[in-house]
Amino acid sequence: MRPFEYFEPATLPAAAALLERFNGRASILAGGTDLLVEIKERIRLPDHVINIKKVPGLDYLSYDPEKGLKIGALATMREVETSTVVKEKYAGLYQAARELGSIQVRNRATVAGNICRASPSADTLPSLIADNAAIQTFGPAGERSIPMENFFTGPGKTILSPGEILTGINVPNPPPNTGKVYLKLGRRAAMELATVGVAVSLTVEGELCRYVRIVLGAVAPTPMRATEAENLMLDNEFSEDNLEIAAQCARDQSRPISDVRGSADYRREMVAVLTRRALRMAWAAAENDGLDESL
Ligand SMILES: Cc1cc2nc3c(=O)[nH]c(=O)nc-3n(C[C@H](O)[C@H](O)[C@H](O)COP(=O)(O)OP(=O)(O)OC[C@H]3O[C@@H](n4cnc5c(N)ncnc54)[C@H](O)[C@@H]3O)c2cc1C
Repeated sequence: MRPFEYFEPATLPAAAALLERFNGRASILAGGTDLLVEIKERIRLPDHVINIKKVPGLDYLSYDPEKGLKIGALATMREVETSTVVKEKYAGLYQAARELGSIQVRNRATVAGNICRASPSADTLPSLIADNAAIQTFGPAGERSIPMENFFTGPGKTILSPGEILTGINVPNPPPNTGKVYLKLGRRAAMELATVGVAVSLTVEGELCRYVRIVLGAVAPTPMRATEAENLMLDNEFSEDNLEIAAQCARDQSRPISDVRGSADYRREMVAVLTRRALRMAWAAAENDGLDESL
């Protein structure tokens, strides 16, 4: 491993100041499950590594019916996966967290690290975008709140500026009769990155769909909303015909590449299959006031 200078700042301003000072040559370390692999494989060679684990007040996972779910930058996947409120009210995020890596990885990995790594196949991104999450940051210019769907600019790239640190993620409280689902397709059942991931968050009022987000992972340079499919579902009743057309819209809007995990054509077809399935499951959960009995 190439040597690097190591820091353990005790405050957020100190961490941000170091990051700004080293201007692109430093990396934040949280759980290290991405960063250390990248350093060992020489994909990334930072001169300085800034471990934020000693910064107090970043390890929270809290829920309030007014403010929704708040996930601190140091909250781990395992904490998210084992939270009763996440399982009950944020079922897509729960499904994403419990399918990420292994328990050992999830004990170290943070949701914030998954977001900042900005991999197109990162598991928590589609469900958090479907839930209309916002990212909180701290940096030289102060604090910012950024809608998560605007956070990613390309594989491994985000709109974070030099010196800016993700401090937390806020996820609104879902209205009644909201169903959430994340479906991940990989080459094997566990310890596998997504070949395709589809998240749906959907609210039903009476017979009609009043809110829907369909977010696709691993089929574009960043996670993407299937907006045409969303428009088709919105203000409509449930019907298998609508689901079929929405699934085809999502397939046609996706922009996958071919790689070791699957060809572009295969991914497109799987977008249609998973979108149809996720919409059906989310609608059933919404009619059951958010409870997915399969979980
Ligand atoms: C064996 C194995 C299996 C895995 N399986 C999966 C999987 O199935 N699905 C999946 O999505 N991922 C998977 N991963 C990737 C990884 O575990 C996740 O992306 C994890 O959530 C990263 O979190 P971390 O805290 O370890 O991040 P780190 O490695 O500490 O950081 C990741 C990146 O984010 C930056 N960063 C971290 N925190 C902040 C912050 N607060 N502000 C600004 N920048 C920050 C770091 O500088 C780095 O660039 C796997 C990894 C391993 C080793």
